[in-house]
Amino acid sequence: MALMTGEQYEESIRKLKLNIYMLGEKIDNPVDDPILRPSLNSVKMTYDLAQQAEYEDLMTTTSNLTGEKINRFTNLHQSSEDLVKKVKMQRLLGQKTAACFQRCVGMDAFNSVYSTTYEVDKQYKTNYFKNFKKFLTYVQDNDLTVDGAMTDPKGDRGLSPSKQADPDLYLRVVEIRPDGIIVRGAKAHQTGMCNSHEVLVLPTIAMRPEDKEYAVAFSVPTDTEGITMIIGRQSCDTRKSEKDADIDVGNKVFGGVEALVVFDDVFVPNERIFLNGETEYAGMLVERFAGYHRQSYGGCKVGVGDVLIGAAALAADYNGAARASHIKDKLIEMTHLNETLYACGIACSAEGHQTKAGNYEINLLLANVCKQNITRFPYEIVRLAEDIAGGVMVTLPSEKDYNNPATREYVDKYLVGVASVSTENRMRILRLIENLSLGTAAVGYRTESMHGAGSPQAQRIMIARQGNIPAKKKLAKAIARIKEE
Ligand code: SF4
Ligand code: FE
Repeated sequence: MALMTGEQYEESIRKLKLNIYMLGEKIDNPVDDPILRPSLNSVKMTYDLAQQAEYEDLMTTTSNLTGEKINRFTNLHQSSEDLVKKVKMQRLLGQKTAACFQRCVGMDAFNSVYSTTYEVDKQYKTNYFKNFKKFLTYVQDNDLTVDGAMTDPKGDRGLSPSKQADPDLYLRVVEIRPDGIIVRGAKAHQTGMCNSHEVLVLPTIAMRPEDKEYAVAFSVPTDTEGITMIIGRQSCDTRKSEKDADIDVGNKVFGGVEALVVFDDVFVPNERIFLNGETEYAGMLVERFAGYHRQSYGGCKVGVGDVLIGAAALAADYNGAARASHIKDKLIEMTHLNETLYACGIACSAEGHQTKAGNYEINLLLANVCKQNITRFPYEIVRLAEDIAGGVMVTLPSEKDYNNPATREYVDKYLVGVASVSTENRMRILRLIENLSLGTAAVGYRTESMHGAGSPQAQRIMIARQGNIPAKKKLAKAIARIKEE
């Protein structure tokens, strides 16, 4: 099979026997659950757009493994141009969903595992590269969604994996069998796990020799025995399950959810193991994956930012404030910040280079600068959007009061802005801004901008490592004509 349609994707997820808990209950049908469904719709968009001729160039490409047409989300980047197209595709999807569309984590994991396993095999004569190519060929041939799972719970942040009071706080190998391994532990904050066919697990930090059992990478189907997903709470999440919920949700169709994913003695067959005990390569894998995902944010967050800037501009129109010079200036500032993020995403891609395995990797310094800006600018963009929207964004009566004949007239009459725009449309745009800045989508747009793909300090460590201050000192000495003995 080549590309799946959105409908085929939905049906393929429906067939999985996923073990999901949310709000204290087991969820037997995640596909039609009102809280989880918007999150599936976001991933579905990665399939729907790939079917449309106008997006074919961005959304699809040719596999270097099989020569077949594939969805770009399963691609091994073959050039800097591929890296640029990846960012453009992510901006497009951010614009179409105003949410996290989840499929990038798998794509970023593919590219980092591919280049790293190649180097591990060269040193140790292992079979990881061959194993991984076989897995990725299966993913490409069936157009699968794969959850890239990196972040361990980490327990005491001052202790390494093997020194934790509870040895399971980092995912580890607990048994080696002739036909595979048994793993135990958990991965936290897993976006898209409940919408994925497979999970690709990576270590979360660089490791020392004593952490051998923790240096493990592998993949298994998401409905493998022993896997449990516990869905995270989001601000305003139950609005989605209110009867006839529409206006109050802000973004009725799309969303994203995260899960704590527990691996309770899960079996991994030998052919699905991509790292097992080669501790010195854990750091390489982490650094490469983080680099790709920090590039990704220069696309997805920018696309969501486009929607937020548009919403703020509409709120100003609906309030009759659009001509005020300070409103125009705030929209300019939001645009400036958003396009600066995009410039970083494009720059780290355009400056990409080929790895030893043959796929392309971003410029790591620029990717880290990209993500460091993402930990700040969306907050400022949200602040300006709230400023433009006005306090009514958080004091607005519910749509139930708008629909109640006893109060409808009052809500309609007193919450109107300019006479030519309906109160309902004004409510819709205010609820969208609320959703992006304080509601369910704020997880993906705000807090994820801070912590997703690594918290700010993680980028600062990489910037320090890549910044090459000694070379800059040399430049200064040359200009200042400093001669040393
Ligand atoms: Fe993709 Fe952005 Fe979501 Fe990461 S946060 S999976 S890059 S949409
Ligand atoms: Fe993310």
